[in-house]
Amino acid sequence: MPYKVSNTAALPTTAVGTVLASQANYYFVQLDIEGDGKPFLCLRRALLKKLGQQVLVGDRVEVEELDWQDRRGAIATIHPRRTQLDRPPVANADQILLVFALASPTLDPHQLSRFLVKAESTGLDVILCLNKRDLVSHDVLNHWQARLQSWGYQPTVISVQTDPALPSELLTALSGKTNIVAGPSGVGKSSLIGRLVPDLTLRTGAVSGKLGRGRHTTRHVELFDLPGSGLLADTPGFNQPDLTCTVEQLVACFPEIQARLAQGNCQFNNCLHRDEPGCAVRGDWERYDDYLAMLEDVMAYQQSLDNRPDEEALEKVKVGAAGQVQHEPKLEARKYRRISRRSRHQAMDDLKLDLTDVESFEDLDDDELEDLGF
Ligand code: GDP
Ligand code: ZN
Repeated sequence: MPYKVSNTAALPTTAVGTVLASQANYYFVQLDIEGDGKPFLCLRRALLKKLGQQVLVGDRVEVEELDWQDRRGAIATIHPRRTQLDRPPVANADQILLVFALASPTLDPHQLSRFLVKAESTGLDVILCLNKRDLVSHDVLNHWQARLQSWGYQPTVISVQTDPALPSELLTALSGKTNIVAGPSGVGKSSLIGRLVPDLTLRTGAVSGKLGRGRHTTRHVELFDLPGSGLLADTPGFNQPDLTCTVEQLVACFPEIQARLAQGNCQFNNCLHRDEPGCAVRGDWERYDDYLAMLEDVMAYQQSLDNRPDEEALEKVKVGAAGQVQHEPKLEARKYRRISRRSRHQAMDDLKLDLTDVESFEDLDDDELEDLGF
């Protein structure tokens, strides 16, 4: 139960919290004991760095040396992750809120299919939300609802612009979870986030200028508090849904295939559901051709990995939604700038941030940015 801290003498020096955002080597941590308090600006203990332990947005961490005056601390321990996404890099996410528009831009079934498969391939739960209901007729709406039902989905239909209140089923589904918003541009994601998180001024990593460069890259992510409970990640990191999964994972991403396999097995264990005899999956269902096209992509991708020199085929361990460990090929080595110990300490000292002003990074001038290694 969060409580308001009033007696500074009795304040703890260590606490558990959630990493909401990061910039350079700094992490914005919301402490559990504060509930609605502004995040603490934290560094990672040298030991974690030595052990090669990255702190991710969404991580549950233990913070030591809490300085309540300046709202600073040091991250000493990272709790085990329930899940881990690579793009965007988020720990402990529960589900993906996939947003599409019924019109403007035109709802392209193949694009939607690809986003759905990409979302399913994370192993997280997927919620599908269709926005801009105000732009289509009842007939068009019914058409899409029936069509998506046959794909195995029950979309929540909304109009961010004209709904007096967002449907309670959507709010309930997001509540208490860490949600990742995904979808193509122009469908109303920002507008939706604006309504789900009314006080966006609470954002922690809202930055501009040189520091803000990261903001619209696929690697930048920050979490917002949902009213009540739960978190929402605002990230553009999902816009090009390249399929980097295995054939087995692809098959698991189609509810239609799972439904067919539940009815009966294919003749061959390793059936790819193309032209093999005795296939229980091949047949007259709408997305079958989408499956075949994506199968080609996934096989080409796997082939390209097999052809890589060994030293490039770095493996990356991911923890799936059910806690299972998956090994995924890591495509790009993360580049990070080395900043000397002295200049990091210097930077921390120079960074007299008042975190009651949450957009504080915007106040840094070029010299201060330089000190941060930018
Ligand atoms: P994003 O790129 O997915 O973040 O989409 P935005 O939130 O920026 O919205 C794109 C455009 O769609 C903006 O002009 C919004 O005003 C508009 N828009 C968002 N929601 C609705 C809606 O429910 N109905 C209509 N007609 N327009 C909407
Ligand atoms: Zn088959």
